[in-house]
Amino acid sequence: LFITLEGGDGVGKSTQAALLEEWLVAQGRTVVRTREPGGTKFGVEVREIVLHHRGDIAPRAEALLYAADRAHHVATLVRPALERGDIVLQDRYIDSSVAYQGAGRVLDAQQIRDLSLWAAEGLLPDLTILLDLDEDAARARLDSARTRYDRLEAERSDFHARVREAYLRLAAAEPERFLVVDAARPVDDIAAEIRERLSGRV
Ligand code: C5P
Repeated sequence: LFITLEGGDGVGKSTQAALLEEWLVAQGRTVVRTREPGGTKFGVEVREIVLHHRGDIAPRAEALLYAADRAHHVATLVRPALERGDIVLQDRYIDSSVAYQGAGRVLDAQQIRDLSLWAAEGLLPDLTILLDLDEDAARARLDSARTRYDRLEAERSDFHARVREAYLRLAAAEPERFLVVDAARPVDDIAAEIRERLSGRV
């Protein structure tokens, strides 16, 4: 079972991933919790470049870096884990690329999706949990947690709104794969809703 968590920055993906992992392990499942970019040693190096490179990275080069991270991650960690029968619980995947790189409006969302699918040899999640938070709430959370990435501050204010819209469009196009959760609700309520969706599947 391949589960991904998606959403903008500061929506609580890591918190929900931790709670879900705890519950899955209590059900007797083996869980591999991972993330993109940076789920492998190689990925950590790519993450460093893509998030902390001083200066601009051309949009296509950036897209290829995320794809390189993904290709290596899927081939060496995600697919082997799924083949062993483990549950892979992953923070960000293809939908992040489509939402973020696509929302930059420089690159075509379909091309980003095609590139990602090529990198991942077609591997799609069984379930994608989209933690959806409106713009003001997301910003308030990020401000209180202090901005973690230089690039976040550089991003224009409407960028996050476009990312959110892109995510919601993806979810609407594939309702059977997505669970959209209102991330403004209490943490435990969200966790319960996610467990509910998974009951009978784990
Ligand atoms: O969630 P995490 O802290 O790993 O994300 C770091 C940043 O990487 C995000 O804020 C987002 O700007 C960027 N990102 C991206 N495209 C992806 C994955 C992450 O632009 N495919």
